[in-house]
Amino acid sequence: MPDNSLVLSNCSQVLTMTGDGLGMVENATVRVEDGRVVEVAPAANAGTVPRSAQPGDSPSRSQEIDCRNCVVMPGLVDPHTHLVFGGWRAEEFEMRLAGRTYKEIAQAGGGILSTVKATRAASEDELFASALARLQEMTAWGTTTVEVKSGYGLDTETELKLLRVARRLDEEELATVVPTLLGAHSVPEGSDTSDYVRLLTDEMIPAVAAAGLAKFCDVFCENFVFNAAESTRVLEAGRKHGLVPTIHADEIEPSGGAEVAARVGAASASHLLQPSDAGLRAMAASGVVAVLLPGTCFFLREAHRSPVARMRELGITMAVATDFNPGSCTLLAQPLAAQFACVYYGLTVVEALRGITVNAARALRLEAGTIEPGRWADLVVTDVPDYRHLVYRLGHNPVRFTIRRGRFTCR
Ligand SMILES: [Zn+2]
Repeated sequence: MPDNSLVLSNCSQVLTMTGDGLGMVENATVRVEDGRVVEVAPAANAGTVPRSAQPGDSPSRSQEIDCRNCVVMPGLVDPHTHLVFGGWRAEEFEMRLAGRTYKEIAQAGGGILSTVKATRAASEDELFASALARLQEMTAWGTTTVEVKSGYGLDTETELKLLRVARRLDEEELATVVPTLLGAHSVPEGSDTSDYVRLLTDEMIPAVAAAGLAKFCDVFCENFVFNAAESTRVLEAGRKHGLVPTIHADEIEPSGGAEVAARVGAASASHLLQPSDAGLRAMAASGVVAVLLPGTCFFLREAHRSPVARMRELGITMAVATDFNPGSCTLLAQPLAAQFACVYYGLTVVEALRGITVNAARALRLEAGTIEPGRWADLVVTDVPDYRHLVYRLGHNPVRFTIRRGRFTCR
């Protein structure tokens, strides 16, 4: 399937995300061959730039795009989503606006468990069709890599079904889909927590690992869902079966989630609204990436904010994700997540842009989120002339083109 070569010329700014900052090259040309970046160079130094297509050329062997007044950046990486589910939960949003809390709604049998009902009732094809439409919307916002969690089945059969949908989404080649087993999202109705943890460790995790359907194993660690000890048991079992640990940590109340992340060698810990300082220090020492979800904070009107000043001080790598899901955040747009991260959490513009690219890739243990020779050409061509506009223009979709492995997925 060798691709055309592609040349992005006259780019106002190319954000390569190499080094510690934006790795910006101004007035630059990006050359792509066979789906991979071969050169990023200031215009004057660019190598043999193929001429524009002429009559008589074999069709689409090469293509040149004039990127004057455009920032070009790596394809966006969304390291935390719950993309596959049945039904929506708009009525809960209304209840929450009327003052009910997340915990109250969950304890009343709403929340995740209502999505579980709708998801179990949906066919694999229905789940695929609705998730594909959402993935297309993400692509229009620049996403080229997305982590997708299961977690609305809460039984082995349905969790496998959700992960098969994730694999089918990956096969569409719109984005690289990184699958995560989140069987430990909630305790199913009528189950005892310790029985369910045993089902996870003895049946579900081995089945998912044997089918090769997940890279990560995740758990919703909260004192009232899976406590620190139960979360550790789930993640250790996942690791034993080759699944990399990751965790929902310290969102609703301090629950020791950051400590668990460090103890099990998690790739990342998400949410982190109320981590303990000891937990953050342990995360720093173990190299756990913090995945910030400021869209959820906005959507739920949560009182706490992730302590980013402390994370920065400790040298914790910070990534930013949408946390797209039907209950607590319906955001599909990574640029908006970056804006929230700046305005709500106090990230700098550079930190936010690294958070949705190179640092997000690090959270997923992928070599992505940069523009450099040899890497896949996952690129976003925007319609703004300066990188600051990417977080400054509220509600504006800056994406002109999304390119994955040298091919247009949105134009
Ligand atoms: Zn989540």
